[in-house]
Amino acid sequence: MFCPKCGAANPEGRNFCSSCGGPLQIIGAVNTSGMGRLAQIPPEVRGWNWGGFWWGWIWGIGNSVWIALLGLIPIVSLVMMFVLGAKGSEWAWTARKWESIEHFKRVQRNWALAGWILFIIGVLFWVAYFALAVCVMTTIEAIP
Ligand SMILES: [Zn+2]
Repeated sequence: MFCPKCGAANPEGRNFCSSCGGPLQIIGAVNTSGMGRLAQIPPEVRGWNWGGFWWGWIWGIGNSVWIALLGLIPIVSLVMMFVLGAKGSEWAWTARKWESIEHFKRVQRNWALAGWILFIIGVLFWVAYFALAVCVMTTIEAIP
């Protein structure tokens, strides 16, 4: 196969050009996203999905991954965080039609970013909550 960027010949099955390092699979690859069992999962699509991990069933609705709704069940939701983190990318690729791998990665990157923002807001909330609790406790102790 030939690199779409620099034209160098590469052995079949490689993901990146040995000459320029550019991606070999994206351009010209058949887009089988959204075809369920028939969908072929490009190697670029695989990998941990932080959007699914943090957003759970909300991410599931946004990406047509309905099994993520199991995350609505307490305790099961904790397991689903890790299941969606590990398998979310592949499931989202097979569940709905994406314009391209780039489109898929861009959308999943946004979910991941939003997930980390959610996480940071959550941490700040709990820090503020405990700080307030300590303030209230010490104030009440100080009242004669
Ligand atoms: Zn190249």
